[in-house]
Amino acid sequence: MAVAPRIYLSPPHIGSDELSLVMEAFETNWVAPVGPHVDAFEREFAAHVGSGHAVAVSSGTAALHLALRLAGVERGDEVLVSDLTFCASVNPILYEGGVPVFVDSERVSWNLDPNLVEDALRTRSSTGRQVKALVAVHLYGQSADLDPLVELCERYGVTLVEDAAEALGATYKGRSPGVFGTSGIFSFNGNKIITTSGGGMLVTDDEALAAHARKLATQARDEAPHYEHSEVGFNYRMSNVLAGIGRGQLRQLEDRVQARRRIFETYRRELGELPGVEFMPEAPWGRHTRWLTCLTIDPEAAGTDREEVRLALEADNVEARPLWKPMHLQPAYSKYETVGGSVGEELFRVGLCLPSGSAMTDTDVVRVVETVRSAVPAGMSSL
Ligand SMILES: *Cc1c(COP(=O)(O)O)cnc(C)c1O
Repeated sequence: MAVAPRIYLSPPHIGSDELSLVMEAFETNWVAPVGPHVDAFEREFAAHVGSGHAVAVSSGTAALHLALRLAGVERGDEVLVSDLTFCASVNPILYEGGVPVFVDSERVSWNLDPNLVEDALRTRSSTGRQVKALVAVHLYGQSADLDPLVELCERYGVTLVEDAAEALGATYKGRSPGVFGTSGIFSFNGNKIITTSGGGMLVTDDEALAAHARKLATQARDEAPHYEHSEVGFNYRMSNVLAGIGRGQLRQLEDRVQARRRIFETYRRELGELPGVEFMPEAPWGRHTRWLTCLTIDPEAAGTDREEVRLALEADNVEARPLWKPMHLQPAYSKYETVGGSVGEELFRVGLCLPSGSAMTDTDVVRVVETVRSAVPAGMSSL
């Protein structure tokens, strides 16, 4: 039997404007890490998310690195960060010599538990330890509960940096996550809701911070006709060619969100009744983009586990992935302190991400649905 075409987890979805914008970069010879598309992409992005300023860079990781450098993180400084996340939320802390402290999730949004953040800040403050920054991650297209996090950061003098790499298009009480902290970062990696093949954005309302980020991203070049450097920088700027792709993608963002939410609704309708299957909740404070449809499979009730379901999908040439493995379980980070940890561990044990690309056809979704159904034995008899 012929193998069906592979269904990827979250492949790029290119629209109608991107190619002509890229051509424009070629035709005007702005094939450089500066140019009119970069400026326009920054302006359009800032307007879209509602931030004062945006700085386009080579990746979300680079944006977070700049955000932490500008938060003043130095060797030995503690930085609180979500435990259930991708390693890129943590690595830039280590690039600066900071010490990550992992904080567990709550069950309403799977994001940072503000009560545990408060515990961590209170115990540290009682012994005179000053936490430098909090990296709050917005997972899988959904905002964390920002109001209490903002309040805690103000109370304890901690810089809030939002990792909104997965949450472009989401809302928290009507506004985009990423604009509540001192700075926020987004990613345009190939698997994100919009892509520039690779790229990122730092957003902030602080004009001086944006200017400093732009300078650090450009080898920290001072204003001078020759090359003058009064500090150490990075080569992190986004190419004008890729910014052209980003501008075209940004125009499609709302459509992409609607498409992913529709795919999620189909999964929920078709799989939600299976015993032991539950979907990632949508918290009451805003819109979940469903960048990825995530579900949990309780082995007791379902008669199978997430790994068997994943393998059944793989056998049908469908890419599905377990949820992020909590940072405290990763060999590279296991020596750092963790506050809580059991919620993330449990989610990792039972959680699975289904293909959610906005270009998926109905036929694709049905193929995934049928494979999942046939992999849940308890479901066969109940349907
Ligand atoms: C993708 C991602 C990043 C990093 O973005 P890149 O553009 O791939 O460097 C950071 N944090 C989270 C949570 C991500 O999912």
